[in-house]
Amino acid sequence: MNAFITGGAGFIGSHLAEALLAAGHHVTVLDNLSTGAMENIEHLKAHPGFRYVIDSVTNEPVLAELIDGADVVFHLAAAVGVKLIVEAPVHTIETNVHGTEVVLRHANKKKKLVVIASTSEVYGKSTDVPFREDADLVLGPTTKHRWAYACSKAIDEFLALAYWKEKKLPVIIVRFFNTVGPRQTGRYGMVIPNFVRQGLAGQPLTVHGDGTQRRSFCYVGDVVEALQRLVAEPRAVGEVFNVGNTQEISIMALAEKVRDLTGGRSEIVTIPYDQAYEAGFEDMPRRVPDLAKISHLVGYAPEVGLDEILTRVVDHFQKT
Ligand code: UDP
Repeated sequence: MNAFITGGAGFIGSHLAEALLAAGHHVTVLDNLSTGAMENIEHLKAHPGFRYVIDSVTNEPVLAELIDGADVVFHLAAAVGVKLIVEAPVHTIETNVHGTEVVLRHANKKKKLVVIASTSEVYGKSTDVPFREDADLVLGPTTKHRWAYACSKAIDEFLALAYWKEKKLPVIIVRFFNTVGPRQTGRYGMVIPNFVRQGLAGQPLTVHGDGTQRRSFCYVGDVVEALQRLVAEPRAVGEVFNVGNTQEISIMALAEKVRDLTGGRSEIVTIPYDQAYEAGFEDMPRRVPDLAKISHLVGYAPEVGLDEILTRVVDHFQKT
């Protein structure tokens, strides 16, 4: 199979590229290195089945040609990370909406299978955990930029499902829940790489709010496995799937774990949300996926638990 990954030099994309190559597929990556990095794909360059192009998905002649040569398109290129979204809302909306629009339009010409990466963020402020794919989305007001990300991804979902309904373009939508692992950078605000970097440097671990908010973290290898299973399953087409792990932890308990794993020298400090992001910032108290749909269809069950994830991330930071 020829796989084409937009955002393939990013955190999830580079792990996906690696797994597909290991499974004997050919992989082409397109990335503009906005949040991705060459170092993420450095180790893949020598592989005969690997090819990369540094460009934007909005360069349509390039995009069209790469889609033409593919059997399946994984559209992972997006503006990600709450911090980036709050700081650059115009860029977030334009990248996420326009990027998906051009990918779907070109994929439609020859009806190429497209996987659209969405996010658990689309469930918004809903407290109806665990979140099921058919649940209502509860977004905050448009004056709070955090919700622009959820809304941009929800539009991507609507558009992909519209292409399926109206033009029979095969699409699969995946909603990622706090994907973590080696190569994820803390630069865009993600909590685990931030804490690990702080812990290893002996700096204070910065917990936002009071730390009672909870998240369920999923190992990137489990996410990549889910993606591979879904594209091999014809009944996944036209459907939306949660991809994550149901093991939950509060951010304060996470900070304590990371502190202990990184030498125990760091203190844990709390920072008000207003200071961490922007005035009036709204966070969600809990975010847990309901995995019934994906587990019934393709037998997906995450294998790597939080302790193992943290050990692998700490190892990675120690090596780099
Ligand atoms: N967070 C934190 N300290 C940090 C970075 C993030 O306490 O240095 C919190 C953040 O406010 C959120 C949770 O950790 O409640 C997860 O944040 P992340 O950005 O990783 O993912 P999100 O779930 O917000 O998409």
